[in-house]
Amino acid sequence: MADGADRGPGAGATGGRAPAQAPERAMWCDERFDFQGTFLQCLAKHVPNIYSAEMDPLLEKQEEMVQAAILYPLECYLFGEDPDIFLEKLQQSGTSQLCGKVFKGGETTYSCRDCAVDPTCVLCIDCFQNSIHKNHRYKMHSSTGGGFCDCGDTEAWKAGPLCTKHELGSSSSPKENSECQLNEEIMEHSRRVFPSVIKYIVDMLIWEEEKELPPELTVREKVDSYYCVLFNDEHHSYDHVIYSLQRALGCELGEAQLHTTAIDKEGRRAVKAGHYASCQEAKEEIKRHSENVSQRPLHVEVLHADVMAHQKFALRLGSWLNKLMSYSSDFRQIFCQICLKEEAGSEKPCFISKLMLWDAKLHKGARKVLHELIFSSFFMEMEYKKLFAVEFVKYYKALQKEYISDDHDRVLSVTALSVQMFTVPTLARHLIEEQNVITTITETLLEVLPEYLDKNDKFNFQGYSQDKLNRVYAVIYDLRYVLVSKPTLWTDRLRERFLEGFVSFLRILTCMQGMEEIKRQIGQHIEVDHDWEAAIAIQMQLKNILLMFQEWCASDEELLLRAYRECHKAVMRCSTNGRSREKTMFHLCGHTLESRPYRVSADPVSIHLPLSRTLAGLHVRLSKTGAISRLHEFVSPEEFQVELLVEYPLRCLVLVAQVAAEMWRRNGLSLISQVFYYQDVKCREEMYDKDIIMLQIGASLMDPNQFLLLMLQRYELADAFKKIKPTKDQDLIKQYNILIEEMLQILIYVVGERYVPGISNVTKEDVIMREIIHLLCIEPMAHSAITKSLPENENNETGLENVIDKVATFKKPGVSGHGVYELKDECLKEFNMFFYHYTKTQHSKAEHTQKKRRKQENRDEALPPPPPPDFSPAFSNVVRILNCDVMMHVLRTLLQRAVELETHLWTEAMIQMVLHLLSLGLLEEKQQLQKSPEEEVSFDFYHKATRMGSSALNAVNVLMLLEKLKRVPQLEAQKDTVNWILQMFDMVKRLREKSSLTTVTAASTSEAAKGDESTQDKEKAERKRKAEAARLHRQKIMAQMSALQRNFIETHKLLYENTLEAQGKEDAIMEEESVSSAVDYSKIALGPKRGPSVAEKEVLTCILCQEEQEVKLESAAMVLSACVQKSTALTQNRSRILELSGDTVDPLFMHPDLPCGTHTGSCGHVMHAACWQKYFEAMQLNFRQRLHVEQIFDLENGEYLCPLCKSLCNTVIPIVPLQAQKINSEDAEAVAQILSLARWLEIVTVRISGYSVKNAKGEKQNLPAFANRGMGNSALEFHSILSFGVQSSAKYSSSIKEMLILFATTIYRVGLKVAPNEADSRIPMMTWSTCAFTIQCIENLLETEGKPLFGSLQNRQHSGLKALVQFAAAQRTTSPQVLIQKHLIRLLGVLLPNFKVEDTPSLLEVDMFHILVGAVLSFPSLYWEDAVDLQPSSISSAYNHLYLFHLATLAHITQIVISSATESSTACSPDNSEEAQSAQSFCREVCQYTSGCFSQDIPGWLVWDCVKKGIMPYLRCAALFFHYLLGVSPPEELLQDSEEGQFKALCSYLSLPTNLFLLFHEYWDTVNPLLQRWCADPMVLSCLKGKSIAIRYPRKRNHLIELPEDYSCLLNQASQFRCPRSSDDEQKHPVLCLFCGAMLCSQNTCCQELVNGEELGACTSHALQCGAGVCMFLKIRECKVVLIEGKTRGCLYPAPYLDEYGETDPGLKRGNPLHLCRERYRKLHLLWQQHCIIEEIARSQETNQIFFGFNWQLL
Ligand SMILES: [Zn+2]
Ligand SMILES: [Zn+2]
Ligand SMILES: [Zn+2]
Ligand SMILES: [Zn+2]
Ligand SMILES: [Zn+2]
Ligand SMILES: [Zn+2]
Ligand SMILES: [Zn+2]
Repeated sequence: MADGADRGPGAGATGGRAPAQAPERAMWCDERFDFQGTFLQCLAKHVPNIYSAEMDPLLEKQEEMVQAAILYPLECYLFGEDPDIFLEKLQQSGTSQLCGKVFKGGETTYSCRDCAVDPTCVLCIDCFQNSIHKNHRYKMHSSTGGGFCDCGDTEAWKAGPLCTKHELGSSSSPKENSECQLNEEIMEHSRRVFPSVIKYIVDMLIWEEEKELPPELTVREKVDSYYCVLFNDEHHSYDHVIYSLQRALGCELGEAQLHTTAIDKEGRRAVKAGHYASCQEAKEEIKRHSENVSQRPLHVEVLHADVMAHQKFALRLGSWLNKLMSYSSDFRQIFCQICLKEEAGSEKPCFISKLMLWDAKLHKGARKVLHELIFSSFFMEMEYKKLFAVEFVKYYKALQKEYISDDHDRVLSVTALSVQMFTVPTLARHLIEEQNVITTITETLLEVLPEYLDKNDKFNFQGYSQDKLNRVYAVIYDLRYVLVSKPTLWTDRLRERFLEGFVSFLRILTCMQGMEEIKRQIGQHIEVDHDWEAAIAIQMQLKNILLMFQEWCASDEELLLRAYRECHKAVMRCSTNGRSREKTMFHLCGHTLESRPYRVSADPVSIHLPLSRTLAGLHVRLSKTGAISRLHEFVSPEEFQVELLVEYPLRCLVLVAQVAAEMWRRNGLSLISQVFYYQDVKCREEMYDKDIIMLQIGASLMDPNQFLLLMLQRYELADAFKKIKPTKDQDLIKQYNILIEEMLQILIYVVGERYVPGISNVTKEDVIMREIIHLLCIEPMAHSAITKSLPENENNETGLENVIDKVATFKKPGVSGHGVYELKDECLKEFNMFFYHYTKTQHSKAEHTQKKRRKQENRDEALPPPPPPDFSPAFSNVVRILNCDVMMHVLRTLLQRAVELETHLWTEAMIQMVLHLLSLGLLEEKQQLQKSPEEEVSFDFYHKATRMGSSALNAVNVLMLLEKLKRVPQLEAQKDTVNWILQMFDMVKRLREKSSLTTVTAASTSEAAKGDESTQDKEKAERKRKAEAARLHRQKIMAQMSALQRNFIETHKLLYENTLEAQGKEDAIMEEESVSSAVDYSKIALGPKRGPSVAEKEVLTCILCQEEQEVKLESAAMVLSACVQKSTALTQNRSRILELSGDTVDPLFMHPDLPCGTHTGSCGHVMHAACWQKYFEAMQLNFRQRLHVEQIFDLENGEYLCPLCKSLCNTVIPIVPLQAQKINSEDAEAVAQILSLARWLEIVTVRISGYSVKNAKGEKQNLPAFANRGMGNSALEFHSILSFGVQSSAKYSSSIKEMLILFATTIYRVGLKVAPNEADSRIPMMTWSTCAFTIQCIENLLETEGKPLFGSLQNRQHSGLKALVQFAAAQRTTSPQVLIQKHLIRLLGVLLPNFKVEDTPSLLEVDMFHILVGAVLSFPSLYWEDAVDLQPSSISSAYNHLYLFHLATLAHITQIVISSATESSTACSPDNSEEAQSAQSFCREVCQYTSGCFSQDIPGWLVWDCVKKGIMPYLRCAALFFHYLLGVSPPEELLQDSEEGQFKALCSYLSLPTNLFLLFHEYWDTVNPLLQRWCADPMVLSCLKGKSIAIRYPRKRNHLIELPEDYSCLLNQASQFRCPRSSDDEQKHPVLCLFCGAMLCSQNTCCQELVNGEELGACTSHALQCGAGVCMFLKIRECKVVLIEGKTRGCLYPAPYLDEYGETDPGLKRGNPLHLCRERYRKLHLLWQQHCIIEEIARSQETNQIFFGFNWQLL
């Protein structure tokens, strides 16, 4: 450091990394120098300076300094040239063939079910998209973080290990001459640099001194500068830490939050800087406060500033290395070599092991760097991965123990890397052979579990810690990983090692065999339910491991037999229980059983028997492979002791039976749960199923009578079959009956369940098919439901897909619901009512379904067992229990009891089982007889069943009993089955006889066949008879029913008549209408030819009080429930910023973009206003007392749920009756003579200017220019407007008036988001605006749905719109007329420039339909006189409407023509129609008035085309508006869905010429000056010059954004998503706005927005702009749609994507490929366009209270 100049930080900061620090670099380059020394000196000098500002670091500056002072020189030395250039070169020279991308939490990973070796093999999205697996059966999942992409790992994939991207990497650079060989010099330098760097990193990370640094780093004077550092743990919550910090340091909430976030992310943080003493003090304070809140102190340390700095820099160097690793394989190899190098002669671990061992002590941030470094180096080089794995296994025990006592998540532990190594088949094999990894893992388990051992050396998990046990599962998982791929080739060494591991594993099972014994509780209920979850959970974890061990064993005969011997020994060692007791004798039917007494109901029993079950598993594999023939070589028959093997599983089954018989109910719920899991799909393979197998083993090896006696004894039923003890104890009898049922059922299973490879000759596929068949016999099922009911193998596969199509057909889903599989008919014959995996409910459901089906097919209802497959030789003896003496005794006894009608001693279920067993016996005999000659068949079921016994009980044989059974009335339902069995008896008899007459085989066969036939005929006849009987029965019932109905009508006559009357009325109205249409009233809405209003008398029923009332002006008000909301559904410009508060907004003019309107919708339900008010008040009262419900709806804002349909409403619309009007056509004609448009305009002008003079004294006069000009005509004066007809204004009842005001105020309040104010001048404007906007929305909806304009509205839309328009017309009367006039004048100002006031917008800045609606509705205010309230007569308004409409239409045509000026020619063919010519001449005028800005070159036909298309929405809206305003019936064409004809019909209805330009001709003198002024507006000119853009007509119809067909495209987009606000690598939740397509960063503090002083999440704040508060998002990673409204409400839906089985997958839990379902997406679109989102949210919140907890505001 000769130069001495302390240039470090300052110099570096200015220069970035470019300028090399010459002196230092020179020195480093000196060949002879001591690199290590210099390097450390350099660090000692710079590091403390760079990281001096720990509390408040300037990260960018720090980084610059690090680059300049240390990394740049270091790289220069290492590469020997400019690092940037060198690395660039290196990068281009090729990429690795391994991808190795490390996943962050939440990232999507892909696995291929066809090609992945196991499900842990995954691809990153990039590799997946470029791989062949894209078109395979893939799965998508969300990573928990910490995994890495297996692209390029040939061992992970059966096919397609490389994506196209990485294939390039591998082909361009074959392994041998690795990518871009580094030259020797660089290699040499690396070998010098890496050791020092690595050593420094290791030293600093494991540095334990708080105050001192290693001497070589201590250069400067030690200063008293310390930090108080707080560490992350999983014990303390965020709030705990914040609280403790605030208290201990006295800091602000914000600062404490900042610290806490950083601690959570990085793992540690300095929270205070200062002298040692003060830091120490802070440390104690923090500990004390944290201990107060959570009993455990936070982890705090005081570190010297320099220590802290060097530790920080060590991590920085770690990421530097990490980056370097990605460039070159040589770097990686050198790095790995150094990391693995052990000091010669030292026992100390190598560098990498040191770090691994220290892992649990490191903080979060350090661990992340370390793990990434391992990924980027060792895991990218197969050879070194192996060496690393060896090191890992070497320290496995220590590492796992550290992890188990650590409190960080597993992803943060180095032990989580195990999956990367253990699942690689060659690596696993190597580790087993060389490192004995199976034994290592099992021994680790044996060392961590002893704390759960009880005095018998069995596990007992009472009071266990869930967290700790979860950590133990990680070790169990490792075992599973190691076993995941079965070896194909066994070496001696592998065999020995595996067996060693197996024996070690048996030791764990030994601790489980018989663990957690329970004893039946008698008298008193147990006090505390014991913990059962842990034991069951371990059982679940072990299930597949047990299966895998068995499979491994089975793949080698020698191994299988040796493993069997070991397992047998272990079972025997555990089976000593009860040996002390004296044996007792049990006699029945002349057979004797000698056994040691044991009673499940009195002695301890356990359901955990993994050793016995493993033995059973190995036994069937012996049978399957044939190795069983050599069994005696390994286990001698004396040792074998089958009774002992059977004993424990049998006890377990008896326990299940006793639980069913409610004998254990005092033992509480825990036992019920255990029994449930024992038989549940998650456990049954290694519990229940194996117990059945063990019984089958017993039945095959024991004497059948002995076996049955043992069963009877263990079921404690010995007495039940001896003699009948008369007892009156109903409970006891019931208990006995259930136990007998349970035992019979198990006997059925022992004999009948043969679908296990090894028990019979079936394949795994057969087994799965049978499972599926039985599931589908219950009902058709969804794919996911079937999957859930099938056991998963170690690869989480059920094998479903391979077989499902053989047994079932797929039925597609509709718009909701899901697709289901239905069983194929030919599989129905496989149905076995006593299928052993049915639960009791499934059993009865399936039985019911199948019987029903047979009935429908007119067949008998017998459901006999299907013929089972033959037992394998090893199990063939099992069938003997069917025809043994004890069985016969049991069957006969039960039948006898039924026949003798000792009702309490038998049940129907019991008899069903007896019949089933009989069937099995007969089937067996039949099958045997068909296969071999009679004399060889020793199975004599027929003989035994037909033989008479000698004792009194046996006086009748089974056959006779069956005949009697048919007459037992309680067993009517079993009759068909009994018949079936009798036929079987017959058939077996024939077979016996036939084969005994073997001489005439042929003849007898045909005879037998005939016999068969005749029975078939009989059956047929019988069925026919039954069908006939059933038909008669149905007839009788029908007759009864109709009689009942008549009676009902008699008694409720009144009711019926009423409804009839009502119907009649309706009919009458209908008739009237049809008559009127026949007469052909004029179907014109405007002008002198106006047709009559069709106003029906409206009688409505209040949904609250159920009373009817006619709607009349003078009656009390009736109201419709309604919901007013702001809406952007029609917007043409989403980038426009919406005003959040309407305090200063002027809503009179609507911008043509329709950016945001106010929509009024209704569910169409009518109430009395008074009833509604009562209801609303009651609700308010009610909910004030129940706080939480307020979240559903906001009472303050008038929200309530419709009392009938529960949709969300926030106001009511008063129902105002339409005032029927009819024009006398003669009068009208007369007026037509005088009242031309010009004259009408003059009259209006005079009237308006008259008002101005009158009302605006003092105020500046509104319209001087026009008024003066018009005054010339003396014939016109102020009152002339009245001379064309007036009438008095409608008089509304006070209650209607009140409601008019209330509703108008709501529209104002919601539409503008302001406080209610009944007197505000903008209330009428909002009324007109919502009226116009709602009509536009409905028109838009009808158009997009392709429905006709009239007649296709839903009822609710129809009544809502009717009420809204009538309301809007009536609302005027509740406001001051002067105010209305003022608004009217401003509206007319747009059309009549003479009226123009300052802020009148130009023609291109207004929506013309809004103007029209406003003008029409406000126009009657011109008739207002001081003394009397007048309104125009029918004729007057007909003209007013006509002229206002024509004016607006002329203006709109002009709008269209001007805005389409820049339109390029479309495909339409030119023509020279009259319209085209008119258009041409009109354009000439426009051109002239715009001084040529408007090009007149546009062909006339094109202009006409634009106008015709562009004006349609406006005409349609106008037709709707005038229809609902005036009640004039529309022409037929508008009731039909036809494009052509519509335009003509509209023109006719609205009194327009079909050549719209004729309108200009007609009014030319009047319109010419208007046109001139419209065109002269600067705004118009600027638009024509292309300086500004005007909206085109027709406006585009909004749709939800296009979504990709394939969901993984969306996931791809999401993976590329970068948060716009932060650059950290934390997990993000990208969310897509379905309105506009914006991708947002949701649920994250980085993107929260401060709106009106409130923190809002990205979605919530986006929704305010994009959807005026209501919005629809897609949460991409979760595959869910979110609807939100405002800040407090929202709900979730599955995304509209379906897998190939027609099911959605919210949360991507199943992970099947997903495809867009257009129908469902359309449904969402309609939800939006119909403004039903709010309603939907309210409904879903009502049903799913779950979402209450969610803070929608932060979404
Ligand atoms: Zn990849
Ligand atoms: Zn790849
Ligand atoms: Zn594949
Ligand atoms: Zn009512
Ligand atoms: Zn309703
Ligand atoms: Zn949006
Ligand atoms: Zn963000």
